[in-house]
Amino acid sequence: MAHGGDTIFGKIIRKEIPAEVVHETETVLAFRDISPAAPSHILIIPKKPISSVASATQEDKELLGELLLEAAAIARREGLEEDGYRIVTNIGRNGGQTVFHLHLHILGGRPCLWPPG
Ligand code: AMP
Repeated sequence: MAHGGDTIFGKIIRKEIPAEVVHETETVLAFRDISPAAPSHILIIPKKPISSVASATQEDKELLGELLLEAAAIARREGLEEDGYRIVTNIGRNGGQTVFHLHLHILGGRPCLWPPG
């Protein structure tokens, strides 16, 4: 099993720091955001330490598909599907990325604005 690199999310994958895990498979981990930006704010990450989608390669094709499908399944289980929700991934400085381990934000429970800030 691939382990996370040296980020806070790597520590969560390795269970060195706690997180409120909502779903885990061999390849992905989903947990509640420590500083929720919506009533329901879950992060889903690959266990493989990819810094962002900008660093993903052809080799990660299946993993990226799995992340999106798992995100939709988690949102369904959270009861977000009927009203809708948002999946976001931030890349680099202008994208507002603060943790350099690829993650999808699943945000729900309130209307999201467009365009985002
Ligand atoms: P981003 O700004 O897209 O890189 O998102 C990083 C997210 O990780 C932010 O929403 C943080 O609130 C969240 N975060 C940082 N540390 C933790 C942690 N220990 N447990 C859960 N979420 C965290």
